[in-house]
Amino acid sequence: MDELFTTENIEEMLDTAMKQENIIVYYQPKYDAITSKINGSEALARWMHQGEIISPAKFIPLLEETKLITRLDWYVLERVCRLLKKQIAEEMHPVKIAVNFSRQHTYETDFSNRLVSIVDKYNIPHKYIEVEITESTIEKNRDTIIAFTGDIKAQGFSIAIDDFGSGLSSLNFIKDIPANVLKIDKSLLSGNCENEKERIVLESIFNFAHRLQLKTVAEGVETKEQLGFLRTCGCKTIQGFYFSKPITDMEYCELCKNRKMEQETDDILTTQPASTATQLLLDAVFTCYPLVIMSNLTRNSFYMMAYDNFTTQSCPSTGVYSELIVHGAATMHPDDQKLFADTFDIADQLAAFARGERTRRVVTRQLGDDNIYRAVETTNYYMQNPAVDDVLAITLSRPLE
Ligand code: C2E
Ligand code: MG
Ligand code: MG
Repeated sequence: MDELFTTENIEEMLDTAMKQENIIVYYQPKYDAITSKINGSEALARWMHQGEIISPAKFIPLLEETKLITRLDWYVLERVCRLLKKQIAEEMHPVKIAVNFSRQHTYETDFSNRLVSIVDKYNIPHKYIEVEITESTIEKNRDTIIAFTGDIKAQGFSIAIDDFGSGLSSLNFIKDIPANVLKIDKSLLSGNCENEKERIVLESIFNFAHRLQLKTVAEGVETKEQLGFLRTCGCKTIQGFYFSKPITDMEYCELCKNRKMEQETDDILTTQPASTATQLLLDAVFTCYPLVIMSNLTRNSFYMMAYDNFTTQSCPSTGVYSELIVHGAATMHPDDQKLFADTFDIADQLAAFARGERTRRVVTRQLGDDNIYRAVETTNYYMQNPAVDDVLAITLSRPLE
């Protein structure tokens, strides 16, 4: 088998295989982590040779090396469009299909035009196609990748960064790529997530992705325990043998046909992972208190979370706590400035905490944009922050009228 493909014969073999339809596409369904319903799939190439199915590991590296991989990818896209066209025509409830595109495509100057012309030839709405590029692609030239992905996104296609965590891409770079989805590489999921350090790595990646508004897919999920842990991380989508291996187009169409269209009324208590509940709780807090400040009193530092422009004055969102109090007092009614500054004097708050005080509330008048003073209630809750051996002050602030 090792000699089946060589640099000399691969081009002719690939062209013949495509012509004779010996390159086939398998589909691996992806599932919503909470409802366990199909919410997409990935197209994966297989090579039929003398009745045997050859997996990508045996031919993709050579196709990459010879740069013939781009021909395969365009071919797979055509197959995917053909399938989607059939699914749409026969009302089979299609879902978005992700197609892998090698890093070699970044050298194609007309990539997005070609993508559009193929997809449009089959009349497929662009929302049904996701472009997967591997993390290794984005290790390349920053501006090229940002322009490349920007063009694709501008045409209404979704973009996924594949195999995240397998390479060396910088987190700082990821934030600048207009991707929709981050696919977490299966190498990060070993065993049943029983290793605490591995869990910390995963939790941090999911947190990072969600804060950047990226949807998350975990790849290579094989066990119920892994699924359980991923749910607590707020992972949106699961791809892996636990739910389904890659399957033929016929089997895949059967799955889609049987997909229930109506929105399930699942019991929130059985489907709610802790992280979603936390998010909802946070949303509830923000609807009542549009300004929340977290402060480490002994370190004299804070960060601020504001909802819907609570203050129109530009406030720093992180910085030195004592400076924040000076800045805050300046926006108060002159008669309230001393009260505000005294209430939130650091030394006084720490002494009060040492005495057992756990909350403190004050109402002051704050100047609005329209030059009118409005009563604002500020409540501080104090707790010991064990992580950094500090007194944490959580400030909830809301207008009273
Ligand atoms: P990928 O894009 O990361 O695709 C996911 C791979 O993980 C697939 O392997 C899939 O079968 C495998 N997988 C999914 N769930 C599990 C699981 O629970 N456990 C384990 N052990 N594996 C799982 P596959 O189909 O062998 O493809 C391997 C790679 O080949 C793909 O990785 C992709 O990088 C590449 N590839 C496949 N088709 C194409 C293609 O049409 N174009 C390009 N450029 N690359 C392709
Ligand atoms: Mg992929
Ligand atoms: Mg992958």
